[in-house]
Amino acid sequence: MRGAMLHGPRDVRVESRPDPRIEQPTDAVIRLAATCVCGSDLWPYRGIEAVSGPAPMGHEYVGVVEEVGSDVRHIEPGQFVIGSFFASDNTCEICQTGYQSRCVHAESMGAIGTQAEYARVPLADGTLVATPGTPSDDLVPGLLAASDVLGTGWFAAVAAGAGPGKTVAVVGDGAVGLLGVLAAQQLGAERIVIFSRNEARQKLATEFGATDVIVERGDDGVAALNELTGGLGAHSTIEAVGTQESMMQAIRSTRPGGYVGYVGVAHDVALPGDELFFSGVHLHGGPAPVRRFLPELIELICNRSIDPGKVFDLTLPLDEAAEGYRAMDERRAIKTLLRP
Ligand SMILES: [Zn+2]
Repeated sequence: MRGAMLHGPRDVRVESRPDPRIEQPTDAVIRLAATCVCGSDLWPYRGIEAVSGPAPMGHEYVGVVEEVGSDVRHIEPGQFVIGSFFASDNTCEICQTGYQSRCVHAESMGAIGTQAEYARVPLADGTLVATPGTPSDDLVPGLLAASDVLGTGWFAAVAAGAGPGKTVAVVGDGAVGLLGVLAAQQLGAERIVIFSRNEARQKLATEFGATDVIVERGDDGVAALNELTGGLGAHSTIEAVGTQESMMQAIRSTRPGGYVGYVGVAHDVALPGDELFFSGVHLHGGPAPVRRFLPELIELICNRSIDPGKVFDLTLPLDEAAEGYRAMDERRAIKTLLRP
């Protein structure tokens, strides 16, 4: 099969990879209908995260089940399925409390690499959720978004306590931040403020439900938010970047007693203890347990209540994955969808 491999910084090649096969009786093999490039793929792409040798890429996926192992009970060939970036059994104590991304048997789909024609999915019964019937083609981008960026933005909004009567601030105008806006809107937030200086992203944020845009960032952004909120700050802040600056901006944007839901993969973030102590904010985040939200998100997408697929502003054949990475790296694209 064809699949994307990262050979070194800014060196993505689509090449021949071994066809995946059932390795464990709990595995499934799926044929990808669509896959995509994640903001977090840019960390190794830019060389900020070390890569040892050629590495398979991609952890977002939707597709059709080709084959299942002998212990798989609920997933069957022919189903259209969606899974998250961590395979999970969905039965252990951690999964049962809704933290499937930290399942005691979690397996990284990034190590398997779903920017490919086919992928092996471990723990198929726990990981995959089937759609009701085969979705029409125009729903595929939305369903693919549910695999990571929508599920991650949704978790951030839930972790931040977004809901009726709440002012939600969103740090980060990438796909996750934009879908955090959508999630906050769906959860009933009263006011949703996005920090963004990019016109196309501001426009999409507004479509998704943002009520205010702040173009300043860092402490200037915090000051602008304070002005909007009577000096109090947001009840709920979504952090969707993962840098020292974005994390501090999120904490400083949040009122005492408020919540920060942080989902940007942290890179060299160090929190000053004294400031954290006096902030009085709740911090909750990490790798989003997307599996928790998949059944609900699939329903909202299939009945056309939400259209998270709008975050894909570039679609390319899988063979042109390198251009898909370049476009996101240079911020020419919000998110690239790849068609195998
Ligand atoms: Zn588990």
